[in-house]
Amino acid sequence: MRKKIVAGNWKCNTTIQEGVELAKAVNELAAKSGVKNVVVVLGTPFTHLASVVAAVDTNLIDVAAQNCAAEAKGAYTGEVSAAMVKSTGAEYVILGHSERREYYGETSETLNKKVALALANGLTPIYCCGEALSIREANEQNAYVKTQLEETIFNLSVEDFSKLAIAYEPIWAIGTGVTASTAQAQEMLAYIRGLISNKFGKAVAEETSILYGGSCNAKNAPELFAQPDIDGGLIGGASLKAEDFLGIITAY
Ligand code: PEP
Repeated sequence: MRKKIVAGNWKCNTTIQEGVELAKAVNELAAKSGVKNVVVVLGTPFTHLASVVAAVDTNLIDVAAQNCAAEAKGAYTGEVSAAMVKSTGAEYVILGHSERREYYGETSETLNKKVALALANGLTPIYCCGEALSIREANEQNAYVKTQLEETIFNLSVEDFSKLAIAYEPIWAIGTGVTASTAQAQEMLAYIRGLISNKFGKAVAEETSILYGGSCNAKNAPELFAQPDIDGGLIGGASLKAEDFLGIITAY
């Protein structure tokens, strides 16, 4: 059965000390509430990865980077490679987030390199896709997301593709307080699963975890997560408070 995943994306928030406290609080609440059948992931800044891995029970919580370099190693000042991320004990890496695409010019070409390096280093990519408001308003979201997938992760071998998770995040719902309606989210995730089925076969499609992201919170998570194709969430703002995040983790 495919995994249910709830992944926090802390973005550029918290000092190491604050991040460790937050991670410990999530760990404590998750342990108390007996969370099961959900993979809980904390997506922290690079600087926090090793400290957060050391602070949590890794049987209960996994840790993710929010990016990795497009090169394996070498003279790339300021970059953090997939091997470095893996060496912290992190198991996941969020790739292709719309903020990286928009503010740092990440293209499909760059993302192909990042995904390949992440996989080669034993990290699980959470590969993000999703359209801007103007595309949704023109009702072109399906074609847009299809192209995003076809230019990147649909070029992987079936073996590699089977190792990653996907997060659909409509840009108009990220950090805006506007959630895609349950029907819109389910419709897109079912569409993505259909594309995977056409490309890699039904069995692979059935095993691929596809998450929804965009203003997901403890209130709307139960309805979203009850949908047949929504396998969890990528959570920004609501992952910065342990109790809010726990409310989402326990929405299943
Ligand atoms: C995100 O940035 O991945 C995200 C979903 O943010 P938020 O939950 O704050 O909308």
